[in-house]
Parts: sequence; structure tokens; C-alpha cells
Amino acid sequence: MEKSDFGLIGLAVMGQNLVLNVESRGFQVSVYNRTTSTMEDFVNQHPDKNLVGCPTLEDFVDSLASPRKIQIMVQAGKPVDAVIESLLPLLDKDDIIIDGGNTLYTDTVRREKDLSEKGFRFIGAGVSGGEEGALKGPSIMPGGPSSTWEVMQPIFEAIAAKVDGVPCVTHIGEGGAGHFVKMVHNGIEYGDMQLICEAYNIFKAAGFSNEEQADIFANWNDGDLESFLIEITANIFNQKDPETGTAIIDLIVDKAGQKGTGRWTMMSAVEQAVPLSCIGASVEARILSSLRDQRKTASSILEGPSNQSFELAGMSKEELVEKVRNALYASKIVSYAQGLDLIVKAGKDNGWDLDLGAIARIWRGGCIIRAKFLNRITEAYEANPTLNNLMLAPFFTEILNSGQQDWREVVALAAVNGIPVPSFSGSLSYYDSYRAERLPANLLQAQRDFFGAHTYERLDKPEGEFFHTEDWPELI
Ligand code: NAP
Repeated sequence: MEKSDFGLIGLAVMGQNLVLNVESRGFQVSVYNRTTSTMEDFVNQHPDKNLVGCPTLEDFVDSLASPRKIQIMVQAGKPVDAVIESLLPLLDKDDIIIDGGNTLYTDTVRREKDLSEKGFRFIGAGVSGGEEGALKGPSIMPGGPSSTWEVMQPIFEAIAAKVDGVPCVTHIGEGGAGHFVKMVHNGIEYGDMQLICEAYNIFKAAGFSNEEQADIFANWNDGDLESFLIEITANIFNQKDPETGTAIIDLIVDKAGQKGTGRWTMMSAVEQAVPLSCIGASVEARILSSLRDQRKTASSILEGPSNQSFELAGMSKEELVEKVRNALYASKIVSYAQGLDLIVKAGKDNGWDLDLGAIARIWRGGCIIRAKFLNRITEAYEANPTLNNLMLAPFFTEILNSGQQDWREVVALAAVNGIPVPSFSGSLSYYDSYRAERLPANLLQAQRDFFGAHTYERLDKPEGEFFHTEDWPELI
């Protein structure tokens, strides 16, 4: 029998859809799953496809053309190690293993090192777009040696989403670069989603109906904010529950789940000392939402603002919509600026040669954060590859400068009305801190010197000279 071009292990929703995608591009695909019946059902459901169902790993490995290209799509963590361990004795040197799951990038760094020492080739590839993306064309973020990427390039480019004919895949960098960038992509996704939720919360408090909100988000989707998440939000407001006829949005419990990639992004930002207020606030917002019982108790104990009804502070509803749009847009710019900053920092620390413009380009299609706005990010980095902060690219500076007053008014309005807007306000604080020529850190340095002789620099002395005050006043 003819040998397969590609093999995939792990036939849950992502694996099955990726297999169908690869097969649809003219490749023969071998498939294996730990639970054999899942593999059999899958192959039987697709009798007309060029698939080779393999009941054992030995059959699977034997069915593949050399060098073998094997993608693992199992649960991230120990299962990936378990699959690799059982595969290795069956493989030849130079065979390629691809981990396409949502793996923590440090695991990818470890696996790549271990496998390359043993003579095998390894790619850690983030795959975004959920089950639909996997089937129709995801955004793929592969990391690993460029020589291995070159072998995989034809298959990855064939299956990736295309925007303006350009595949949404590029070699991100060495080692764990692909999984790191996928992790930050997911963090940015958390930020985008939370910002939309904060806009919704304000509109709901201001008395907008679900139909009005569907129209607002649909209108926004016709402009600069055009994105998959804004588009699905408009659709969500139009969805009725078939059982009760009520809008489904009003029946869904306000308790958000998470699988951990947002938390990983936040932890990386702390480790790399990169501010991540928008994404961080979005992760915390999910955590707070999950404390539903505590919130219920606190709602009758902790007081809110004295005004009982929402005060629009003299704004018309149309003005509010425009101001919230500007607040969301500005916060979104901050969120991307911070996420990209984290990628740049990790790239420097890990020796990855990252192209930010190319990364933004492959996020334009296939993935959850796909948006018109990403073209502008690519252009900004093409114009200035060493851009310090996205906020300083002229296109984004202009939006921030023209929207910042509205942004403040929205955050103030929310505070006055007791509506939590952690990502709007965290982003605004970052903006104000970043543009502040002088911050109160002089006092902080004085405190550190007072209790710990940590020293400080002086405005009236050359930079890099450190001083200590010996005679801070004694505490009485
Ligand atoms: P999943 O629920 O994460 O994993 C289920 C698959 O893992 C099954 O095929 C299962 O085999 C296999 N598995 C679990 N433990 C195993 C072990 N010890 N040895 C061998 N196989 C094992 O599946 P998924 O949702 O399709 O996701 C696959 C990967 O893609 C994950 O890393 C996920 O985070 C990532 N991802 C998912 C999405 C999404 O929208 N779902 C999007 C992007 C990325 P059995 O059938 O035998 O149990």
C-alpha cells in the first residue's frame, strides 16, 4: 500500500478536523487514537477520504513515508510525553514529530532539546481557530529548527487559512517560539473578549436592549473594529432560546471558564517583567466571575454608589455608544501593545529572531482574534521593525490621541455608576503611566532607601550614580 504523507495521533475534535483539512489538500493521512473505537468510527464516517486507520502505533508508523511527519493532537501536558515516549522506539532518526496542542512553551523547549539530542526532529506548533479553524483553515504558529519547518512548510501552508492569498502560517522561531506566541495570542483573545464584555456591561446598565446591542456591535463590525469576536457578539444578542423564547444571553450564568493559557500569559509577563494590565485584568475578571457565591453574598453587604439608577452624565445614548467604542478601541491597542511587548521580551531572552509584522499577518485569518486591525499592526512593524511600543506607531498614536478623552469619560462614568471595567481602566492606567514624564517612583525609591538602604539616583547628578541617605529621620 502507498505510504501516507502525514500522520496524526489524537482524534478528538481538533485532531479529526485537522485530518480532514490535510486530506482535503490532496495528502494521504494515517490516523491513530489511543481508544481504537474512536479511530474506527472516524474512518468509517469518511469512507470516501484518503485515510489510513491504524489500530496500533506500529501499524501507524509503518504506514508513513520517510521522513515521517507525525502530528500529535492530544491533551497538553503528560499525555504528549506519553505519546512521544511510545513513539520513539518505532521511529527512525530525522523523523519529525509535531506537537499541535496548547502546550506550555517551556515543555516545548524541553522536548525539542531532548528529541534533537536523540536525533529526532520536533516542531511545537500552536494551532488557533477552534474546531472550525482546524477544518477550514487555522492560523498556525510553528516553532523549531528552520530546516524542519522547511520540510513541513508545504503541508502547513496548504492547510492554513488564507487572507489575500497569503497563508496564515509562518516560521515563528526556534525552540518554544511557536507555542509562546500561541500562548500570547490566547492572552490577547482573553483581552479582546473582556473588553467587549465591559462595553456590554455599560450598555446593559444604561438600559440598552439586546436588539440595540446587536445593532451596535454589527455597526462596529462594519468599521475599524471589524473582527470575528465583534461579529459573533452581534449574533449572540440576536439568539433566542428555543425553549423559552428569551434571549439566550439573559439565561447564561455569569461564570466564565478558562483552560489556563491566559494565566500562563500572565505568569510569563510577571517572569519577564512586562506590564500586562489589559490581559491580566481579563484573566482576573474570569476568576472573579467564577466566585459567584461570594459575589452574591457581598452584593447585599458592600455598598455601591449612592445613585440607584444609571447616570449618563448628560450624554445621549448615541454619544455613549461612540465614547465606549473609542474606549474599547484604545484599550485594544494597549492590549496588543502589551502582548507584543511580551513577545519581544521573550524573543530577546530566548534568542528567538521574531518578526512581529509577520506574526500579526498570520493572525489575520483562521484564528479567534482575526481582525482588520491586524493589517495596521503589520504595516507598523514593516515601517519600523524596531518599534518600541505599538502605541508609538503613527496610526495607533492618532487613534489614542483622538480617543483618549472619551476613554477617560467612559472609565469615570463606569466608576461613578459602580460598574467594573478592569480592562478599560487597567489599559488607561498603563497609557497614562507610559506617557508620564514623571511618576511617583521617586517616593518609592526613598522608601526603599529608608528601610533597606537600596540607594537611589538623583535628578541633579549623572545617571548611573547611586546615593544613600544615612540620616533618614528616626521613627519615634
Ligand atoms: P482534548 O480533549 O484536549 O484531548 C483528547 C485527545 O487526547 C483524545 O484523542 C484522547 O484519546 C487523547 N489523549 C488524552 N490522554 C492521552 C494519553 N495519555 N495518551 C494518548 N492519548 C491521550 O482534544 P482537543 O480538544 O481536540 O484538543 C487537542 C489539543 O489541541 C489540546 O492540546 C488542546 O488544548 C488544543 N486546542 C484545542 C482547541 C479547541 O478548540 N478544542 C483549540 C486550539 C487548540 P482518547 O480518545 O483515547 O481518550
